[in-house]
Amino acid sequence: MKVHVLDILNDAKTILEIPSPTGYSDKIIEYLIAQLKKLPFNYEVTPKGNLMIHVSGEDSSKHVALSAHTDTLGLMVRSIQSNGTLKVTTLGGIIVPTLDGEYCQVITRDNKEYSGTILYQAPSSHVYKDANSGVREVDKMFIRLDEVVKSKADVEKLGIQNGDIVAIDPKTTITSSGFIKSRFLDDKISVAILMSILKEMHRTQQRPQFDTTFIISTYEEVGHGTAWIPSTITEMIAVDMGCIGEDLACSEYDVSICAKDSSGPYDRHMTTHLKSLAVEKSLNHVLDIYPMYGSDVSAALRGGANIKGALIGPGVMASHGMERTHADAVEATYELLKSYLNLA
Ligand SMILES: [Zn+2]
Repeated sequence: MKVHVLDILNDAKTILEIPSPTGYSDKIIEYLIAQLKKLPFNYEVTPKGNLMIHVSGEDSSKHVALSAHTDTLGLMVRSIQSNGTLKVTTLGGIIVPTLDGEYCQVITRDNKEYSGTILYQAPSSHVYKDANSGVREVDKMFIRLDEVVKSKADVEKLGIQNGDIVAIDPKTTITSSGFIKSRFLDDKISVAILMSILKEMHRTQQRPQFDTTFIISTYEEVGHGTAWIPSTITEMIAVDMGCIGEDLACSEYDVSICAKDSSGPYDRHMTTHLKSLAVEKSLNHVLDIYPMYGSDVSAALRGGANIKGALIGPGVMASHGMERTHADAVEATYELLKSYLNLA
């Protein structure tokens, strides 16, 4: 594995381990700002909480944007039960059966953290006939807190309330064979790729071809991440995971270029241009259609942005479940973005 790709994977691991379920982005944005303070670029946080990093290009006749979302799937406390367990509601479209048995952190409004485990309502095979067969739906899951709590009042004494955030253990692991497996590679692996491009531009003293805003968005998982972008932006790439499965062409070793998702076709000229850059640089790449997907570009277009938009990203297997991708896909995505920005 190339050293800079390993650096991206290691940066991704740090980012993945900072909890940021959609609606709880303060901590991760703080961390990213601490990284940006080491770089010479201007940045701002929008009222909604998106981080925008502005980089002047060689040519200011055009303003383009790259976005990656740092919010992830998660849960929220729905109610506290009389036996001291918690009922939950989902944040974003997580595959609920994959949550059975997962460790989590409950984060209270005053930022206290309590560990727990997500379980199905019939969690013991010695007691319940449906421990195996029961359907794992969110209404049938609960959180067992690692605190001595025997009543609702005991839980309330900890400061836990309805509406508290539940972050799920990402279990991030980098293997010697070049895989990174973790929850929420969608889309923190792309956040790490964008941060790495910023560092590389500083290290090599290069500027992108055009004025470029790097957007680290929040609330993408609930559909409105970059519904607002500055009106000077005329071209935008959402850098977000590529889908794998069924008849799709993408694998964990490719950068995926999306021609169409649930929000409709992406800009034909941009998609064609990205494809030809990938061919020119001999990058592992595919063109694909994502049957059930929307991106930050979809949100921007629906929000009224007058842009051409494209969507690319590393192929991520088992998305919104136990995800995995490979260093090859990360490298191909990184290189394609560098080509798009006209960086050496
Ligand atoms: Zn995503």
